[in-house]
Amino acid sequence: MNNGIAGTTLRINLTTGEIERILSDEEVYRRWHGGRGVIAKILYDEVPRNADPLGPENIFIVNVGIMSGCFIPAGSKVEFGSVSPLTNGHGDSNMGGHFGPMLKFAGYDMIIFTGISPKPVYLYLDNDIIELRDASRYWGMGSLDCEKQLKKDLGEDFEIATIGPAGENGVLFSCITHDFGRQAGRTGQGAVMGSKKLKAIAVRGNRSIGVHDLESLKKQVMEIILRTKTHPNMEPWQKYGTSFFVKWSNDNAVLPAYNFQTTYFEDVDKIDGNQLVEQCLISHKACFGCWMNCGKYTKAVVPGKPIVHLEGPEYETTATCGSNLGMKDINHVAYINWMLDNLGMDTMSGGGVTAFAMECFERGLITEKDLEGHTLKWGSLDDVEHFLDMVACRRGIGEWFAGGSKQASEKIGHGSEKFAMQVKGQEMSGYDGRWAPGMLLSYMTADIGAHHNRSWTITVDIEEGRESVEGRAKIVVYLQHIRPLFDTWCICRLFWGEVDVTAEEIVESLNHITGWGVTVDEALRTSEMIWNLTRCHYIERNRANGRAFDYPPARSWEDKIPSGPGKGKGVTRDQIEQMLDEYYEARGWDKNGNPTREVLEDLGLVFAADNLEKLGFLGKPIPGGIPPVRGKKYKPKAF
Ligand code: SF4
Repeated sequence: MNNGIAGTTLRINLTTGEIERILSDEEVYRRWHGGRGVIAKILYDEVPRNADPLGPENIFIVNVGIMSGCFIPAGSKVEFGSVSPLTNGHGDSNMGGHFGPMLKFAGYDMIIFTGISPKPVYLYLDNDIIELRDASRYWGMGSLDCEKQLKKDLGEDFEIATIGPAGENGVLFSCITHDFGRQAGRTGQGAVMGSKKLKAIAVRGNRSIGVHDLESLKKQVMEIILRTKTHPNMEPWQKYGTSFFVKWSNDNAVLPAYNFQTTYFEDVDKIDGNQLVEQCLISHKACFGCWMNCGKYTKAVVPGKPIVHLEGPEYETTATCGSNLGMKDINHVAYINWMLDNLGMDTMSGGGVTAFAMECFERGLITEKDLEGHTLKWGSLDDVEHFLDMVACRRGIGEWFAGGSKQASEKIGHGSEKFAMQVKGQEMSGYDGRWAPGMLLSYMTADIGAHHNRSWTITVDIEEGRESVEGRAKIVVYLQHIRPLFDTWCICRLFWGEVDVTAEEIVESLNHITGWGVTVDEALRTSEMIWNLTRCHYIERNRANGRAFDYPPARSWEDKIPSGPGKGKGVTRDQIEQMLDEYYEARGWDKNGNPTREVLEDLGLVFAADNLEKLGFLGKPIPGGIPPVRGKKYKPKAF
């Protein structure tokens, strides 16, 4: 096909081993744009609402989107999706590297796994050769070790996505790893793979991808290459990757420290981007088709421990596993990063869960007896190493924390839910939103739980005034439409968003690839449709008004920031209610946070309106009708 679509979709029943080849449906891609969009529709249609996310009825999907693997900058992503065991709603997560493009080069747009294999397997794809192979000898291996072994056994030119022991053991925040350090970290996609006894996917291919208008695409891409090469943002991203943000976040009072107790880390200079480059960096690393090379191939040298090699730590890991755990040495942060990568756990949730456990230990809610004789003190690498091993193996109270900090706080009690820093069961990324209200609202309303990639507003919060929350909702809604488009098209937002490439230019590339003739407004509307569908899915599974799930933990409004430049700052409960009211209004939902029939029908989601109505959660009609432009009035400088 000459439209960015490789041509083949695989449906693999892991219970029976049956493999079905289907022609990829261009109509579906035209309507849902691939990646997160197609995944959202399949999960909504095919997973029974009462299905156990770790049971045979859940579906695990790999989708490469339209633009990944094409002749464009940073067309490197692949999206994974299933009902999330962490949030019990629509779940998706993506990663860069080379796996997605390679899947397309082998001829595949999507793989849909159903059922549960009777024994550990991995999927072997070599152009037309498709085999489910025995993975018994790889089961139990660390993610990084398994990738190395599979490459040794199959050939260096295979691209591998794998899970670690945590995914095998059903740790709910397990990730998928590729390229020795690229992760689809969020929403527990690794746990779903593990529940299906699917250890890895190995792929090799050498086909090309047809596009609609190659000459125009080449001309446009060359112009973008020449222009962005000298963009002032390019150099810091190339030199430090995302780690140059660590000090900036501390200076701007959004860096979480000591389990989000404060936003000021006194030892930030010991873990920031300069330390990473000076102490750990071996070489720069990039994904397919990218010259921003934000990846940092590094080593961690810690006396008494083996020297380990990894990719990272990038910003989120440094925040959640560095300052948030009180770590005062970049080598220690890197070592934790490596441990989590090899065990196969998301560093953001892994750091968040560990920080929560540390505060529980500090408050005496868990003790050395619970920790097999160990302590769990801020800044202690040995303590963290032992705790993570307990979690990955679900040993003792590791079992509680393997369910994430929300589930652990329900077990621990004593008011600990106040400082389990998550929303909808997913731990917050590496930003504290108490003095960045738009960021807090982004966490509260993100369809996959508290994740920053759906909407990131901190520079807007600073520009628009951090004390007031008014107007922030419409900005969040706009960003929640534009940013997830990158996960829909499977291209890297970091590249396209940070060097001033415009939304119009990205859509122009999409049109050169597909010939669809899409406008930016149409793309935003598609994104809004996806957002509403995942909201309906969440409400249908969890059977309560949407508003009930949109609150952050009470620390977010009860505790003011105690130190640093944000000292004394924080939002109030009233401001949180105000933001939610304004957010629902901007989306055309009712006060309960439930989508209305007017909006759903306007987006072509009549079936979802009917389903919500049957369950009694359809939003009440909005006085005055639906807002004519939902979230489209605000256009930030960057996305
Ligand atoms: Fe990969 Fe970084 Fe380039 Fe994005 S900017 S494609 S994450 S190297």
